[in-house]
Amino acid sequence: MKKEVKTFDSDIEYTTDYRNIKYPRLEFRTGKLHLVLPIGHKNEEKILKKHKNWIKHKDNEIKRALLLSKKEKLVNRSQEELKKYILNRINHSKKKINKIYFKKMRSKWASLSSNKNLTFNILLKYLPNNLIDYVIFHELNHLKERKHNAAFWSLVKIKYPNYQEKEKELLIYWFLVQEKGGDKNDTN
Ligand SMILES: [Zn+2]
Repeated sequence: MKKEVKTFDSDIEYTTDYRNIKYPRLEFRTGKLHLVLPIGHKNEEKILKKHKNWIKHKDNEIKRALLLSKKEKLVNRSQEELKKYILNRINHSKKKINKIYFKKMRSKWASLSSNKNLTFNILLKYLPNNLIDYVIFHELNHLKERKHNAAFWSLVKIKYPNYQEKEKELLIYWFLVQEKGGDKNDTN
């Protein structure tokens, strides 16, 4: 369900979801605020109020990414080229992956399942190599640490001390791809 929260001077849209978890959590999924609450939780206003500075900060980052997306250009690469590129990189990493899938995903660039299947968003074909490399490295580190916690980011930092910049660039490209990319041939 879509709702709105007033944060300082702007109204920010958000969605909620109830799950069998202990503590509520807030996340931004590719530019959209999402609140995950323990089943039966009734005080979402309190959570939103408590985190309003963080929400505002994230919302500003998103607005900035949207603006910057107007200046970037999509890379022209075929699906086959993308698949070849990614498979090659993963082979080089010598990490043990079960299966690798490519499909059009609506809210993320890639994901790793609990049985070590990697799925890549086919829309990565529009991204420069350095960002694809980052997405691969990010996912492979989820083999060691599933959550986006401090331990996970310290692994990412080994190769990408500036990983926050990469995450921001990914958001910029996310908006750009939503706007300009993603033709009907991108499904598979
Ligand atoms: Zn991740």
